Amino acid sequence: MNRIPFVAGNWKMNKTVAEARELVARMSAPLSTIPNVEKVICPPFTSLMAVSEALNGTGIGLGAQDLHWEEKGAFTGQVAPNMVKEFCSYVIIGHSERRTYFGETDETVNRKVHAALKAGLTPIVCVGETLGQYESGLTSEVVRRQINAGLAGIDPAIASRIVIAYEPVWAIGTGKASSGENAQGVHSRVIRPALSGLFGESNAQAIRILYGGSVTAANAAEFFAQPDIDGALVGGASLKPEEFIAITKAAVK
Ligand code: PEP
Repeated sequence: MNRIPFVAGNWKMNKTVAEARELVARMSAPLSTIPNVEKVICPPFTSLMAVSEALNGTGIGLGAQDLHWEEKGAFTGQVAPNMVKEFCSYVIIGHSERRTYFGETDETVNRKVHAALKAGLTPIVCVGETLGQYESGLTSEVVRRQINAGLAGIDPAIASRIVIAYEPVWAIGTGKASSGENAQGVHSRVIRPALSGLFGESNAQAIRILYGGSVTAANAAEFFAQPDIDGALVGGASLKPEEFIAITKAAVK
């Protein structure tokens, strides 16, 4: 199966509007010339409008870092799917920081995935085990549960629009990336079979599975060389233009 490589930068809670404009100006031209890689930038909500203007015509996609599942109403502080869709084609759902600090659960992830697909957005659904779970040998069990519960009830006919990001929590922002071999094992032995169980084998083969967790220009090639690693969700390094451009170049097949 020929899956188009996918590289997304998660800026997390960084950059004012002026700073976001400046950062995008430093990376958009070189990124736009990299062929055959789906490229996405995910700034904070407040910069989506400015970054969407800056990305116009570059072929680089824009993503939000979260959304709410309801369409409108009394949900102070939340952003509805159709509001995200005004600027974005993508949305990150279930990032471990949202699970850890903001009460995200497999059930809320599931509601958000349904809502994102309904709004025509591509959800980038994050899964991954904590350090304690990793050390207790629970990786497969935890990740399988997150996939099965987070994607429950999705119509197999549209499942190939989903992107999965395997992000072991112990590797996010720590500088201690997983090995390529370890991530490949989780992708091929846990995530893809779980996707196959939910959506059938041919849909499972079409879904991109990214690795995330301390990806840098120095280690990116090790991940992209693995047959079931279809790209990367990049945090810290996506704030450094040279690093993010080099990671994206490494994803070209
Ligand atoms: C992330 O934010 O999803 C992430 C993987 O962060 P980092 O690349 O900094 O580990």
